[in-house]
Amino acid sequence: MLRILCLMLCLPLCAAAADDYRHRVEQVLVHTPLIDGHNDLPWEIRERFKSDLAAIDLAADTHHLPVEAGQAALMTDIPRLRAGHVGAQFWSVWIPVETQGFQAVQVTLEQMDLVKRMSARYPADFAMAYSAADIRRIHDGRKIASLIGIEGGHQINGSLAVLRQMYDAGARYMTLTHTTNTPWADSATDTPVHHGLTPFGVEVVQEMNRLGMLVDLSHVSPETMQAALAASQAPVIFSHSSARALDDHPRNVPDDILRALAANGGVVMVNFAPAYVSAARNHWQADRAAEQTRFNSPPFAGLYIGQPDRAKAALAQWDAQHPQPVTLLAQVADHIEHIRQVAGIDHVGLGSDFDGIPDAPVGLEGVDRYPALLEELMRRGWNDADIAKLAGENLLRAMATAEQVSLKLRVRTSH
Ligand SMILES: [Zn+2]
Repeated sequence: MLRILCLMLCLPLCAAAADDYRHRVEQVLVHTPLIDGHNDLPWEIRERFKSDLAAIDLAADTHHLPVEAGQAALMTDIPRLRAGHVGAQFWSVWIPVETQGFQAVQVTLEQMDLVKRMSARYPADFAMAYSAADIRRIHDGRKIASLIGIEGGHQINGSLAVLRQMYDAGARYMTLTHTTNTPWADSATDTPVHHGLTPFGVEVVQEMNRLGMLVDLSHVSPETMQAALAASQAPVIFSHSSARALDDHPRNVPDDILRALAANGGVVMVNFAPAYVSAARNHWQADRAAEQTRFNSPPFAGLYIGQPDRAKAALAQWDAQHPQPVTLLAQVADHIEHIRQVAGIDHVGLGSDFDGIPDAPVGLEGVDRYPALLEELMRRGWNDADIAKLAGENLLRAMATAEQVSLKLRVRTSH
């Protein structure tokens, strides 16, 4: 009886608390734009729709669009961005590392053009932003600020002139490497060669400081992170990385770098990719890849080389015996809390990697789900000011500081 009484009292109270969290999140996001550091929709539009914006209606739900085998359902569209109270999005103009040289510059420009066309096509919802002040103004006007982030140093083809023109064309961050080393910086997922930055790599960072383009250290090796922190006069960002202490994946940020970030003023924008969030998923993925190799890695190894049906059946059996570990929204919250604990509340943000990841944590399936994550943090005791910092104030502060550094450096030097 007592238990029933408790339930009767508790349920409405819990529901009221949930309503209260939702209301508080909405209030915070009226004043502070929620800024996401990394979304790969532009490449998906290039791949799936040949960059033809008439072929995809972003004003409608894209989640139910037909997909090909191995493709994930799209995680982004305008109704879901609105439901998620997104205030600003850094659209990635990623290109594959296989694309190098002049071709890399051309494809990057095409992707930048695509972001601008996407923004222009939906003028009631998007507006291009090139500064922290732009983000605030556009958010105040109840639109979503669209920004451009370059995701690999190979995209400037070793040329500071190209870097400068990319800035002039609107790019506001550049990730120093993608998955392989550049001739001037080491990637986290390649064999170390430079052990940080070469002298030219330092020049790239200095020129980015002068221009006012944020230095993005997602994807780079810890040595490159250290070298860039030493070289940069402006705050740096990690546009889409999580905490290595919770999941020892090379794409995540080690604790010593997190500690160094406080002095730099930078921000780690937490990635939602299941393999970067969950150590169990990370290990499962590695085990599965090894198993796949064991069954079929022509021409010399593999139990079932030349027997694709048998290799497929063997992998299916492995899958049945080893279900993929589930990754939850609460684990993303754990990464956020770890970064807060080690680097400080002023150095954590959001960088989902939506539409660049094969799947997303349960509860964080698309761009409409940010409020659920913020509510989870409120449930853990975060106050409204903390939530505002995570959602956007930290990135705005880092960006505005980088702009001030640029102003100072531009007075001192001229090209
Ligand atoms: Zn990435």
